[in-house]
Parts: sequence; structure tokens; C-alpha cells
Amino acid sequence: MATIAELKRQFRERDRVIRVLTLDGAFRAVAIKNTGVAQTAQQRHGLEPVGARLLAQALASASLLASFLKGEERIVIEAHGDGPIGTVAAEALQVGEVRGYVQYEAGHGDGLPLDMHPHPLGKQGLFRIVRILYNHFEPMVSVVELQPGDIAANLAHYFQQSEQIPTVVQFDVTFDAEGHVSASAGLLVQLMPGIAPQGIRIVEERLGSLPSLSELVASGVMPEEILQRVLPGPFTVLNNTPLDFFCRCSLARFKELLTTLSYEEVQEMQRLGQNELVCQYCGERYRLTERDFLDVLQHIQARRN
Ligand SMILES: [Zn+2]
Repeated sequence: MATIAELKRQFRERDRVIRVLTLDGAFRAVAIKNTGVAQTAQQRHGLEPVGARLLAQALASASLLASFLKGEERIVIEAHGDGPIGTVAAEALQVGEVRGYVQYEAGHGDGLPLDMHPHPLGKQGLFRIVRILYNHFEPMVSVVELQPGDIAANLAHYFQQSEQIPTVVQFDVTFDAEGHVSASAGLLVQLMPGIAPQGIRIVEERLGSLPSLSELVASGVMPEEILQRVLPGPFTVLNNTPLDFFCRCSLARFKELLTTLSYEEVQEMQRLGQNELVCQYCGERYRLTERDFLDVLQHIQARRN
């Protein structure tokens, strides 16, 4: 049995995202602590710190935006560039599940080690935000040009370009001496329509006078308390969701995907012994048995008839 003190500690240490609205209606804001999610992501994909940092930011961005959605609605964030890290992608559900991955591009590093590279994502490319919503048959896709910089810079640029809302975006990811994520946190503050744009400067000033976000969460400060320090007035909490790195992949889902291939393609995979499937999003490995191949082939056959 856990003691009350332990339960309290677990509650405080839990990754979570909190969305609020100030009582005067001037600001909406979201704060996130996703240290555990970022650590799991780094571990699962075996990432060095540059990729781990970008992925932690993308995972935080997706969770921040997902907190505006309902139930199983989801957000996908993708940065595709011409740098040594060609793709960073994350997907989050409003219910708190989030997953993501990084794709390295061999030969795009200009010979520089990754941590010396000025633009690991590259200078040119696309930044995409996809919303998969109830009551919408098609996903809603917004695309802006990739900005040289990290995911935070791209998210801020996206808000400026496509929503034209004064926005403060900040992410902070720190590492221990071995290069493992030690803390990850983020913050998004937006001015509501009709409020004078100077309002956002008050938030920037307050944020500037605080320790870094990762220092705050590492010292046990919860996302709600960060918002209390950053926002100029009282607020109501609209959403408070615990977060987990979680992927819904399964062998059954992969087998279902395989049935969309042709009979010959699946037969070829079987013949070549290509029986290992790896989930891009979470790194989980699945091994297909002869029985699984047979199932899939029978399925395809049945569809043909
Ligand atoms: Zn997966």
C-alpha cells in the first residue's frame, strides 16, 4: 500500500498538460510537463540528445494542441527539412496518449557532428499540423514553410502565419551528464481576440523573470503553478490531463495493414523471411509467424473472391 505522502508525490511527478482561461477573458494558456514522455521516447528510439530534444518539443507541441480537442480527436505535428534530422513527427490524443519519432538522414550533416550543427532540421522544408476531428470527414491540414530553428520556433511561426494570434511559445528540455533527458516542459500563451497586443508583453516579461521551465518542473513545480506565475490574473482550469507515451499499435493492426498489400507482395515477404515489423512511432517490434502469414494471405484471397 502506498502512503498518502507517496500518492501525493506521484501525483506531483506525473506528466500532465493543463489548459486554462483567465477570468478576464484576455488569455488562454496551456502548460505541460512531459519529462517522462520525453524520457520514454528517447529510450524507445535510442536517440542522441539533439534528436531527443526536438522530439520532446514535438511531443509537447502535439499534447499542447491536443488539449484544445475532444476525446479521441488527435493532432499530428510533422517537421520535414533538408537537415541531418529529416523528420520529426508526433501525434497526440486529447485523452493524453502521445507518440512520435525522429528520422535521421545519412549524408546531410555537412560533416558536422549533430550537436555542432546550426540547423539540425535543415533550412528548408515544411512544418505540418494535422487535426483529425469528429464531424470532419477529412483531416484538417495546415502547412507552413519550415523555419530554421527548433520546433518551438516553428510552432510560434505557425501561429503567426496561419492563425495571426499573438502567441508566446516556450519549450525547455534538459539533459543529464550521460545525455539522457532530465526534464522537459513547455508553455503556450495566447491573447484572445479583441485584446490589445501589448498584453502579450506582460506575459513575456513575467516569463523572463522566472527560472527556466525545466528548472521549475525539476524542482517539483507543477504546470498549474507555472501558469500562476506567468499569467497576470486568476484563471479557470478547462482541462487537466495526465500524459503517457503510448502507441496503439499491435500485431493485429499490422496484420490488418498487410492485408492491403497484394497477395504476391505478402508471399514475397514470406519467401524472403521478412517477418519482422517495426512500429515507426514507438519502436515496438513484431514478429510474424508462418501462421500469421497464412492468416494474411487467406484474408487477401477472401477479398479477391
Ligand atoms: Zn507503435
